[in-house]
Amino acid sequence: MIAAHRWVMTAPKAPLVIEAFDPLPPAADHVVVAVAGCGVCHTDLGYYYDGVRTNHALPLALGHEISGRVVAAGAGAESWLGRAVIVPAVVACGECDLCRNGRPEICRKQQMPGNDIQGGFATHITVPARGLCPVDEARLAAAGLTLAEVSVVADALTTPYAAVVRAGVKPGSLAIVIGAGGVGGYCVQVAAAFGANVVAVDVDAAKLEAVAGYGAALTLNAASYDAKALKAAILQFAKDRACPRPNGSSSNARAPPPASPPRGGCWCTAARCAWSASPWTRSRCASRT
Ligand SMILES: [Zn+2]
Ligand SMILES: [Zn+2]
Repeated sequence: MIAAHRWVMTAPKAPLVIEAFDPLPPAADHVVVAVAGCGVCHTDLGYYYDGVRTNHALPLALGHEISGRVVAAGAGAESWLGRAVIVPAVVACGECDLCRNGRPEICRKQQMPGNDIQGGFATHITVPARGLCPVDEARLAAAGLTLAEVSVVADALTTPYAAVVRAGVKPGSLAIVIGAGGVGGYCVQVAAAFGANVVAVDVDAAKLEAVAGYGAALTLNAASYDAKALKAAILQFAKDRACPRPNGSSSNARAPPPASPPRGGCWCTAARCAWSASPWTRSRCASRT
């Protein structure tokens, strides 16, 4: 037996309630993770403050940016025992057409902690072993980081990472990050790490100041420019930096959105969201920066 507990949401804005549970034994291909850290995503705030509905009925522990250590494993998942891991914010099925076509983030059978299953605002969580990300603790220590600190990699960092990869960002590319908040701030850093010339656009001077020290070569406060002037400033920057011109190829074109909106509500990156123009995103997406 493990004396585990989690803090569950029973209703929007109601104080979280502590609930005891025993996660043993985990089902086949599932593991129990002792939670080291769990980030708070804007999606969690949307559930809690704005009444955005979770797929799993309340009461439910929120939290989907989880790192920790595997302390129990079901049949077939024994190799994970004892390992430090990051739990992906969405565990895709790996078998459907979307998964097979490289779009696991919009898998219809996905399981999202704190939305489809009990989440990480807890001492322990049970999750499918599929998709777990092992953490190299030696490298973590060498970087001066703790396992708890890298929990946000599960969503806040991997979301813009996926956007940067899908956008085909290369050394010398021009990357324009619109919204330099929780996700966009990481997008600036990831795009810069890929070698891009990064322009960050926001209406919050403090956010722009923050990302100026972390990879944004140009920051523009959209509150101070009209659209024409903003475009001119970016074009001049691209010219000064000799950024390659977009050629309209698939690597530069915005990917067409899938037929229906993604579940979960946290896959919008202001940088390159296929849904940014959709009514669904405007009304439901809780990850606005
Ligand atoms: Zn799938
Ligand atoms: Zn999220």
